[in-house]
Amino acid sequence: MNDVPAGICRGVSRVYQAADSYVQALDHVDAEFRPGMMTALVGPSGSGKSSLLRILSGLDRPSYGSVEVGGVKLSDMRAAARRRARKRLVGYVFQRPSENLISYLNLRDHMTLAAQMRGGVPKDEIAEVLDLLGIGALAGHRPEELSGGEQQRLAFAQAAVGAPPILVADEPTAELDHASAAALLEVVGHIAKRGTAVIFATHDPVVAERADETIRLESGRRVG
Ligand code: ADP
Ligand code: MG
Repeated sequence: MNDVPAGICRGVSRVYQAADSYVQALDHVDAEFRPGMMTALVGPSGSGKSSLLRILSGLDRPSYGSVEVGGVKLSDMRAAARRRARKRLVGYVFQRPSENLISYLNLRDHMTLAAQMRGGVPKDEIAEVLDLLGIGALAGHRPEELSGGEQQRLAFAQAAVGAPPILVADEPTAELDHASAAALLEVVGHIAKRGTAVIFATHDPVVAERADETIRLESGRRVG
């Protein structure tokens, strides 16, 4: 594994403006994410986990500070340029399996679409990613024919295809039981080993334990 970070947050702060007040969701957060490593982002509800993941993945911009992914400074880009850069640089997995998938497409179609979004990938790579995630035999299945754990495996497969520098997942196991969550994280580890930095938020200490590193937030500050 190489030592050049795939993702870097420097002094990242995010202030949200509500109707008549401001919320400081993130306060000068520094973090680096290396290829091949899984990082768990932990902390109580409201501590800023989702805010940090949205900024790291280029869905949002920091109020102060900078974010770099794959050598590209996402935080300097306007929305349209960031959207284009994200397709190449970031895989993203939402909490709810249904948010990641389209009900009338089967697994193979999801992967074809994901590969197109990345600008095309070698044909063998789709099969390789599906095998690593243990869903290679389910190509003809639609989401409703998959278990929650299998749906999230597909969501990770879509996010991992094309080997983006970072793969970001916001509470990907929140809707799964312990056994499915542990099994999912195990196979996601194989994805990281291909050279992607995987960063996921979780409430669950058992899930967090499966990561190589942990980052802890409290009230928007990094405390561990
Ligand atoms: P977590 O994911 O750890 O629960 P969030 O990043 O969602 O934390 O939220 C951090 C803080 O920012 C919370 O106080 C939350 O209420 C606030 N917040 C998040 N998103 C917004 C928003 N769009 N507008 C205003 N406040 C927000
Ligand atoms: Mg959250």
